[in-house]
Amino acid sequence: MYRGPAITLEQVLENRELRAERQREWVSTHSLPIVSFTINMPGSVKLNQISQIGFAAGQEQIRKACMHSGCSSFISQSFISDCGCESMSAVGGISPQDLKRLMIEVEDTHPLGRLFDIDVFDTQGVVLSRDQLGFARRRCFVCGRDAKLCARNRVHPLPALIDKLSEIIHANH
Ligand SMILES: [Zn+2]
Repeated sequence: MYRGPAITLEQVLENRELRAERQREWVSTHSLPIVSFTINMPGSVKLNQISQIGFAAGQEQIRKACMHSGCSSFISQSFISDCGCESMSAVGGISPQDLKRLMIEVEDTHPLGRLFDIDVFDTQGVVLSRDQLGFARRRCFVCGRDAKLCARNRVHPLPALIDKLSEIIHANH
């Protein structure tokens, strides 16, 4: 499930720059709050069965959540490459804060939500944080502690992360 094209660190950095550029572009084009969705995939393979299943499920849930909460418009585009699965969505009829709350709910309640990385930008292009809305930080999908600390300190070896992700997909797909 993990197999796919391996990418270099240079490609990772280039892709990060491309995403930031896209985020700015979407903010200025739409003048609406923007949702930037990516799949958390550790290691050098970003496009594989795990990321594609997770992405399809997440994209569907994001759209549904927006529609069900009465948003007036939802314009979305997916970007799939060796660097992984991503999408941008411009959402009308909702405040950036409410949109962020909605996306936190998707991350925290969807069975595959631990694979999702959903950022929300306001119309000035400023990213909203869990902290500022009083939400707890995200938990590591392996050990349940602060996910940022585990990632930064590389607490879990790659095979353990891949096993856990495959297990989450199998259990929910
Ligand atoms: Zn952990």
